[in-house]
Amino acid sequence: MPAARLSASLIYNPNAGRRRHGETIEGIKAALSGRYEITTTPTAGPKNATELARSAARRGDAAVFAWGGDGTLCEVAEGLLGSPTILGVLPGGTFNVVALALGLPRTRPVEAARMLAEASPEGRDVGLIGTSAFLMQATGGVDGYLMRQVKAEMKAKFGIAGVLAEGARSFFKYRFHPFEVAVDGVRHTVTGAAFVNMTEYAGHYRFVPGARWDDRRAHALLYTGRSHLQGLQFALGLGLGRHHRLRTVAIKEATELTFLAGSEVFLQADGDPWHGELPVTCRLAADQIQVLIPRT
Ligand SMILES: [Mg+2]
Repeated sequence: MPAARLSASLIYNPNAGRRRHGETIEGIKAALSGRYEITTTPTAGPKNATELARSAARRGDAAVFAWGGDGTLCEVAEGLLGSPTILGVLPGGTFNVVALALGLPRTRPVEAARMLAEASPEGRDVGLIGTSAFLMQATGGVDGYLMRQVKAEMKAKFGIAGVLAEGARSFFKYRFHPFEVAVDGVRHTVTGAAFVNMTEYAGHYRFVPGARWDDRRAHALLYTGRSHLQGLQFALGLGLGRHHRLRTVAIKEATELTFLAGSEVFLQADGDPWHGELPVTCRLAADQIQVLIPRT
């Protein structure tokens, strides 16, 4: 007799990325059906995925599969914090950095679901900016500005190419204004700062060489470049895995990073602009979440 199937939810953002939903959802459900009995729920708007995930955890679902971009994923992670419900990551956005970091195919959610059907959960750290969860990084500076400038239509219509085209235009308009942060109580004047949980950034790039996602430790990356040329050197260095050697970059292990009041700074977390009040502190959440890790 086959083992009883576990109850699970599939939460998806009907507006993320570019795709045909119906067929893919049936494919995902079929791929997971050996182990999970799936209930499907589309998100109704921003932050709704957090509520849906929290309800799923409350009614005792063994797992929540999140099909969407990195933004949908971190909303789901926030809803699962403090519960034993497992997160399954299915790529469905434009960049899908978390899916890539897990070794899942970036553009094939059904194949990802097949891999997750066999996967076991492991504890992973979650970052907080104020009370909002993120999985990768919360940053302030030019990337926060770019993520505000890139319009949702461009992302939906032209994908990564649209983001790059609009991002390049906005980059040269940006002035690298200094702002103030505190890292574990020590003040720094910077032009960019990141609180790093996962090291993967914008694809396969690594913000903090050697950092791990499961070790209850986070890092601060501080940037002090003032010119566009230095900005390009940082981008090139990141591409080559050498940015940490630049004079404009300092990386240290950190418990807390606070963006201080009075700063004019553009913030983003996991690829979405963050619009709250300053000061705001970033740290790791007290609890880890359980994430399905595919065998690679
Ligand atoms: Mg870590």
